Amino acid sequence: MKSNRQPQLANSPIVKEIPLACSNELAAVEFFERKRWGDTPRCVHCESKNVYKMVDEKTGERNKRFLWKCRDCGKQGTIRIGTVLEESRIPLRHWAYAFWRASTSKKGVAALEIKRQCQISYRSALFLMHRIRFAMAPSAESLPKLKGQVEADETYIGGKPRPQNYHRGPALRKKKAPVFCLVERNGSIRRFAVANVSAKTLRTALVKHVDRDATLITDENPAYLGAHSRFAGGHFTVHHASGEYVAYNGAHINTAESSFAILKRGIMGIYHAVSKKHLHRYVAEYDFRWNTRKLNDGDRTVAAIRSAEGKRLFYREPSAA
Ligand SMILES: [Zn+2]
Repeated sequence: MKSNRQPQLANSPIVKEIPLACSNELAAVEFFERKRWGDTPRCVHCESKNVYKMVDEKTGERNKRFLWKCRDCGKQGTIRIGTVLEESRIPLRHWAYAFWRASTSKKGVAALEIKRQCQISYRSALFLMHRIRFAMAPSAESLPKLKGQVEADETYIGGKPRPQNYHRGPALRKKKAPVFCLVERNGSIRRFAVANVSAKTLRTALVKHVDRDATLITDENPAYLGAHSRFAGGHFTVHHASGEYVAYNGAHINTAESSFAILKRGIMGIYHAVSKKHLHRYVAEYDFRWNTRKLNDGDRTVAAIRSAEGKRLFYREPSAA
């Protein structure tokens, strides 16, 4: 299957670093340290640069836990502190591998694949992937409003209740998880696992995430009625029911629809099924890759690793790593 291809690292300066970081623990630790600190290691507690690597007294080599000590606050810490890796005992080389694969496989990577390649338990692999998805999700306060031409569309994971499916009734729709998509033409995407796609839910998201000067483009869903008065650039609709995919004025929502196609094929093909409870995490993973699509694979991997900083998740790691 295509998705199992080896990640492409051409033209990336980290081409030499990644494979080593995935196979050797010290190389992995130093890789994560370089990506977080550059040439200037800092105390993970007080940010002081007055830190040193702790060494094993007998061998003179780096401390087994790869600890640093701060001369200012006197505390010890590792590169994991203050990131989604904190309190995890899974070796960093496995984290490096999972970050790499999650950042470079278009449709994502299955926990089963991580289990096989890293020789860790399935539960550990699942845990690791969940945390990487959490890292990839943007912090709420870091999101500027979408501008210019903004496409809005909704789908149901498992199939969209298009007019031709309406006879199948609300029972079918109930089982499926709705996802709402806002995408700026040639810009970034923002998708949400939502409780429903009522006019109220969509309006709330539009007001929160789309700039007032934007032009909104949607399909003929009546939930968007009245949107023209909210956006200075107006509201254009495409009439899918009459077989129209690009309106006479060039309006279309093909970007949103193709983004949904990748999401669905990925979730069906790689993850097979995703519970409603976790859907938002998978959506964040796909959005991350979309929003970093102009980076090369190496830089995207580094962006994912950097996004792990300042984020912590407090659910317990399974015991057998
Ligand atoms: Zn300190």
